[in-house]
Amino acid sequence: MNRKQKKVLVRILVAAALIALWACLPLEGPLRFLMYMLPYGIIGYDILIKAAKGIKNRQPFDENFLMAVATLGAIVLGEYTEGAAVMLFYQIGELFQSYAVGKSRRSIQSLMDIRPDSAVLVHEDGTSQTVDPDEIPVGSTILVSPGEKVSIDGIVLEGHSTLNTSALTGESLPREVFEGDNVISGCVNLSGVLKIQTTKEFGDSTASKVLELMENASSRKSRQEDFITRFARVYTPAVCYSALALAILPPVFLLMMGASPNWGNWIMRALTFLVISCPCALVISVPLTFFAGIGGISRKGVLVKGSNYLEALSRVRTVVFDKTGTLTQGVFEVDGVHHSSMDEDKLIEYAALTESYSAHPISKSLQKAHGKPLDKARVSDVEEISGQGVCAQVDGLKVAAGNTRLMDSQGIPHMPCHSTGTIVHMAVDGQYAGHILITDKLKKTAQAAVSALKKAGIKKTVMLTGDRENVARETADALGIDEVYAELLPGDKVEKVEALLSAQKKGDTLAFVGDGINDAPVLARADVGIAMGALGSDAAIEAADVVLMDDDPAKIAQAIRLSRRYLLIVHENIVFAIAIKLLCLLLSALGLAGMWTAIFADVGVMVLAVLNAIRALALNEKGES
Ligand code: ADP
Ligand code: MG
Repeated sequence: MNRKQKKVLVRILVAAALIALWACLPLEGPLRFLMYMLPYGIIGYDILIKAAKGIKNRQPFDENFLMAVATLGAIVLGEYTEGAAVMLFYQIGELFQSYAVGKSRRSIQSLMDIRPDSAVLVHEDGTSQTVDPDEIPVGSTILVSPGEKVSIDGIVLEGHSTLNTSALTGESLPREVFEGDNVISGCVNLSGVLKIQTTKEFGDSTASKVLELMENASSRKSRQEDFITRFARVYTPAVCYSALALAILPPVFLLMMGASPNWGNWIMRALTFLVISCPCALVISVPLTFFAGIGGISRKGVLVKGSNYLEALSRVRTVVFDKTGTLTQGVFEVDGVHHSSMDEDKLIEYAALTESYSAHPISKSLQKAHGKPLDKARVSDVEEISGQGVCAQVDGLKVAAGNTRLMDSQGIPHMPCHSTGTIVHMAVDGQYAGHILITDKLKKTAQAAVSALKKAGIKKTVMLTGDRENVARETADALGIDEVYAELLPGDKVEKVEALLSAQKKGDTLAFVGDGINDAPVLARADVGIAMGALGSDAAIEAADVVLMDDDPAKIAQAIRLSRRYLLIVHENIVFAIAIKLLCLLLSALGLAGMWTAIFADVGVMVLAVLNAIRALALNEKGES
């Protein structure tokens, strides 16, 4: 509990003791009034002030106003105990709520504790200095000792260690890193000293990006949150006017009928009505559930950029995959060089040179197959055509490396390949120079990922790829994917997704999962764009709504299942709170429920709703079962 909460607790205890004490004393008349004003004032002064401020700002209809009117009304009618007690229980409810919200906020913040506060910069003369990570330029060397967080993304220059990536990826097994490996910020160095050459600025590093995403997440509201805001805006004034009508119309009617109007009774019913109607249970529990949900899912290494996407995720019925880098590792091995007009190694060298500026997985694999450092000065006029390949000048010769589409567009006849695999056709100086057959491996969890989706009730899985038909078929069959479309250009992928979007039932959503290489437009177009975070390009992470930090497709089904559980909690709370409120409102209008029922309906429903929302956190802690 913080200081403010402790102060409220003291006020609650003092007021409760006084109310209990006064109830035992035979107090009468003005003395009784004055004695009860003491606990009422102690417990309720801040609510009265807030209500007065609301009226002054011409925005009176909030829960402070409801409470102030109801309790003051009860006191005017001489019901001092009720007036003071309503305030007391209202404050107990508020205290509980602020405690619960604070606690869940803190527990999420501690999970997200990936922000590094300092970094050790190594100067060229070998001396080192602790500095603000924000001041470190790209290409500097930083030193990370065991127990410290990696502050900036980079490449290991020296050292060997294990990293704990769990805060980012949800993966509990430490990851081993050696010289030359990429490391991302936010990981904790567990064993050896690492010298890292930074490849990004602090602000562009993974840890900063992730925190920025999480901080912005709460500004994107779900339909449920919008509903609650709009609901409260209409509901509170409506209740106030109904209460007014309940206080005035029946007595006036009775008066006209010649009966006794019984004003006190009707006003009391109207005040009870006001207390019951307080919408705090909904206003607090729905955003709290989303907040806990986004926080909890992030612990599994899945970043959701807003409550609206968490909600859309829970309704996904179609999952569309990209192939390379998403379902496959994107690490190609050279399986053969066919019809080469030159020495095979020479052809691979040309391919690697042509591709040396490309970020495509094919390019990286060719660099690796070549295995020697490349002189990039030999390459100029690079043009990458997405979904086709690359053209460039190498050693003054025009070289093209890519698929049949690229060869066709260059007007170069090419030899077909009958093996299953991805083909990089080569043209050098306008002549066909043979092709390189490369093959990719499935990600280890890809098959499990697809079957977990089926089990989670996903109706259709689709694969879209720019690769050859035979590779696409083989991959889809191995994974059990329902539909495959191959040899697509990035624009064709958007069209296919649009067709799938318009074919789906209302209320269902479609998720596209990609690595962001050549598919950022599709990521943006799908209802939920899911990007591979570690491999994926920055553009993909910007365009995506959900980011999988460790590139594991099995996380998709997990995230969908969790999002459904959170949404279930949200709906439970909305239905439960509104149903109880309506029932109590009816009972109070009929005179069957008094002020005490009202207090318990209000505070009780709120406590239950908040407890239910906190269950979202418990789900996370226990895993998803
Ligand atoms: P996917 O849909 O499987 O992710 P892409 O859309 O990235 O594949 O690419 C589709 C096809 O275009 C690849 O299979 C390859 O034949 C060709 N291609 C794309 N980029 C390159 C490149 N940099 N080098 C060679 N071929 C490429
Ligand atoms: Mg791709």
